Amino acid sequence: MLPKTTKSVFVTLVILFLLTPSVVAPGGAIQSTPVKITIDAGHGGYDPGSIVSGLSEKKVNLQIALKVKELGEDHPALDFVLTRTSDNFVPLLDRLGYAEEHGNDGYLSVQANSFSDPRVNGVETILDRTRKQGGASWDMAKLIQESVVGRTDARDRGIRYQRLYTRYTEIPSAMVEVGFLTSPSERERLASSTYRESIARGIIQGLLIYFSR
Ligand SMILES: [Zn+2]
Repeated sequence: MLPKTTKSVFVTLVILFLLTPSVVAPGGAIQSTPVKITIDAGHGGYDPGSIVSGLSEKKVNLQIALKVKELGEDHPALDFVLTRTSDNFVPLLDRLGYAEEHGNDGYLSVQANSFSDPRVNGVETILDRTRKQGGASWDMAKLIQESVVGRTDARDRGIRYQRLYTRYTEIPSAMVEVGFLTSPSERERLASSTYRESIARGIIQGLLIYFSR
């Protein structure tokens, strides 16, 4: 682990680097090709995900995705597209199809967790079982996980593997589970726009570092 100050200096340098146009064409015209990343707000429409004490997962996911899009406007190196911008259901493979067409440098699905034990809390990032440790998806997931935990101070549950629909795409892809709706304290945090903004900033930071490598 780097000391926190070294780490934040590094992150600042990375961000400055990304804000600097990479190619200046002859004649001085600036060319920049932003990376195109798909942010997927999990669930939607008739599929709410879990609902705990009136807070639905689909809503939390969407609010975070919209925040990433909004804050992402400040980072010309990144171009975010969303699989949904309102409360509608999009079939999973359509989400990937959309990503292949409009945002195929990276795919991140935003989800919120739930569990039978209300004491369980924290952030985890999930990869499909076919993704190798040390591969592109794993790298991206690890940086997002670290950055979201760094910004929120949530419990770090690390990287986990599951069988996910993202196995159907070659795009570096992961699923971030931003917290447990079943944990009363975490649910309260997830209901706050300030906290959701910290999550969104963490996601952007992780992606900035990943795409600067
Ligand atoms: Zn979910």
